[in-house]
Amino acid sequence: MTHANPPDWLNDPQARLARKNAFDAALVMGTAQFNQMTGRLLNQDRPFLWALDKATGLIRPDLVQARHCPICQTPPRRGLFVKDGFRHVKCPACGLIYVSLILREDILEQYWRDEKTWAAVLDSQPQVEMDRLKYQYGLDLVAWRLKGRRLLDIGSGNGGFARLAEEGGWQVTAMELNQQNSKRMESMGLKVIIKHLETADLPSGSFDLISLWEVLEHLVDPSLTLMEARRLLAPGGLLLVLVPNVESLVTRLLHEKSQTFGGHSHLNHFSAKTLAAILEKTGLTGLEMETVITEMGTINNHLAFEDPYAGLAAQFHAGLTPALIHENFLGSRILAVAGVKA
Ligand SMILES: [Zn+2]
Repeated sequence: MTHANPPDWLNDPQARLARKNAFDAALVMGTAQFNQMTGRLLNQDRPFLWALDKATGLIRPDLVQARHCPICQTPPRRGLFVKDGFRHVKCPACGLIYVSLILREDILEQYWRDEKTWAAVLDSQPQVEMDRLKYQYGLDLVAWRLKGRRLLDIGSGNGGFARLAEEGGWQVTAMELNQQNSKRMESMGLKVIIKHLETADLPSGSFDLISLWEVLEHLVDPSLTLMEARRLLAPGGLLLVLVPNVESLVTRLLHEKSQTFGGHSHLNHFSAKTLAAILEKTGLTGLEMETVITEMGTINNHLAFEDPYAGLAAQFHAGLTPALIHENFLGSRILAVAGVKA
């Protein structure tokens, strides 16, 4: 099962792009159609509007806690914007865009444990179909580099990646706090740990691959999780990370109108630079970093003065292609492979 050589598509830019485009919903199904079919247009994912203080437009002071930059600990200074009561700031020292103040950790904890609404979006058939191809791409990206097949999937959600890996012969441990999702994974026969990584008390060096699919952006202290993940990696082990790219073309254009900004849930917004910085800081190093998913339809809609997520605007400019977007690191997600720093 272990490849000595990388798969053919890995070093063939055209084939690699074709594989990325196959899980890019905007290209496969159309943005408005995909958002309709997955229920995104109905569910705006703004569950804390009830907590707004009408006088200030911010989340009520009794529900929030202060936070310094989670990479370099510099106190927040420069405010970018407020969205749904959450202040988004840019760290004057390292450039990380993050949320401060955030919801109190006990409130976040309860939210993650009980959340069901967004789970329905992620469980929708078109989403599952796109995710499966994305997960396979990620797995193929790392499998040939690894000798062992012990996987820890942190923040497994509905178990899409964990199941795919298990079907592919991996020995999988899933980690998930959400009650509905963890129960469901258990009923599928997956091994599930319902704890935070830092409290799970797993033995050092016990995994060949640790995956964090759309997890780091949600964490109050992502450095802590990365350091613990580093401890759990076996010699030669790898980390597979996917995060939203705050320097994507779509986010650069839409700013706070971008759905990526939801301060109750997305607490950290990484770029290639800040993701590399937090990996370095935690004793890891990026071996590969690329962008995936163009959000071409969202971009075309915005440039045509249509609703970015529901509009049906035609292509804005023939020169704006998936190749151009990914070659310039402008895709909406960063996919990174990291190893332990020598
Ligand atoms: Zn910083």
